[in-house]
Amino acid sequence: MSNSKGILVVLSGFSGAGKGTVVKRLMESYDTYALSISATTRQPRVGEEEGKSYFFKTVEEFEKMIEEDKLLEYANYVGNYYGTPADYVNNMLKSGKNVLLEIEIQGAMKIKEKNPDAVLVFLTPPTADELKNRLTNRGTEDLATVEKRLSRAGEESNGIENYDYILVNDDLDTCVKEFNEIVVSEKKKTFRNREFISEIQNEVSKFKK
Ligand code: 5GP
Repeated sequence: MSNSKGILVVLSGFSGAGKGTVVKRLMESYDTYALSISATTRQPRVGEEEGKSYFFKTVEEFEKMIEEDKLLEYANYVGNYYGTPADYVNNMLKSGKNVLLEIEIQGAMKIKEKNPDAVLVFLTPPTADELKNRLTNRGTEDLATVEKRLSRAGEESNGIENYDYILVNDDLDTCVKEFNEIVVSEKKKTFRNREFISEIQNEVSKFKK
């Protein structure tokens, strides 16, 4: 098929749903994706690297990016700014990669508004208890932050219906495989292949008597 443009895929999910792990495995398993690295004003966690996990910014630097229209979307999440640099996304889509945005729900809604062809996937653990366990046991946040993130999960749960797909992260391999299947199927949708369709229509119409 002649559709060479990639698609924009948004992955959201409760804090602790395992988005990071799913994204990591997806990037290792397929070469058809480009992962957008966000800018944030949150402090780096132990082991996080500048330009790999995030572009870490001061509030002033982040607000300058907003003013200069450098972000595709941005949101405030539990007291910090997070945003998607636009240039990388646009360049990667043009080059044919499927671009992955791992972002929270407000940003996801903005992406859908600006770019209705984007595919939105919501990732959830199998149960609420499992969510609480994962978030508490990963030990990357203090208790107060865990509480805030759980409370935010409660708010976000009302927005799941606005996503195109819901994916349960129970078994990692299955989850990653299913995510890729969603994207592969999406790429086959007729509205994404208009050029190819009109080419084949032209050719086939020559057979008419
Ligand atoms: P964390 O602090 O755990 O890395 O991220 C907190 C939340 O911010 C997660 O839900 C993550 O998906 C979201 N997030 C990360 N980058 C962006 C971004 O560029 N835009 C938006 N809207 N959310 C983001």
